[in-house]
Amino acid sequence: MAVVVARPNLRWYEKLYLPNIAAGLAITFRHFTKMIFGRTKVTMQYPEEKWDAHLPDYYRGTPALVRDVSGRIRCVACQLCEFICPPRAIKITPGELPDGDKFKKVEKYPNEFDIDMIRCIYCGMCEEVCPEQAIYLRKDYAVTGFTREDMVHHKEKLLEIGGVMHGVVLKWNERK
Ligand code: SF4
Ligand code: SF4
Repeated sequence: MAVVVARPNLRWYEKLYLPNIAAGLAITFRHFTKMIFGRTKVTMQYPEEKWDAHLPDYYRGTPALVRDVSGRIRCVACQLCEFICPPRAIKITPGELPDGDKFKKVEKYPNEFDIDMIRCIYCGMCEEVCPEQAIYLRKDYAVTGFTREDMVHHKEKLLEIGGVMHGVVLKWNERK
């Protein structure tokens, strides 16, 4: 239902707007003097200054794929993250490893792996569900692009953001 807001009847001195202009300038002057005497915080000068050093360990930024210490992509294209992702931001095209590959037992690898960062809600469920410790939410938060296509992070971009993750990859552990 539409709500009609009544237009106020201004007095003659209110129509001059001078009292309001003076009140606005008084606020500006108050903040200015506080800043001069160092009693106020100034806005962070982004992007020259960044929040990076203040981000907590549990901060959930851009999801990214990681490699293991030998440079191998940890993802085995099981597609669990694709199925669990609430806004369906992930699209995976699995590929088969060639015969004779020493990691053939993992059956698949991601031929293509796209995450649409316009859809992503940074929930972290992909990280939670991944059985291979292959996808992590990194602390990157400056996700920008000029077009919708720019906002889709392809496999190479995801690997670049993710970098190398140290530690045991369960499925490729020789002792399993
Ligand atoms: S963080 Fe959440 S929304 Fe983003 S890709 Fe992972 S599961 Fe999908
Ligand atoms: S990132 Fe993890 S959950 Fe997603 S397809 Fe790869 S191995 Fe499976």
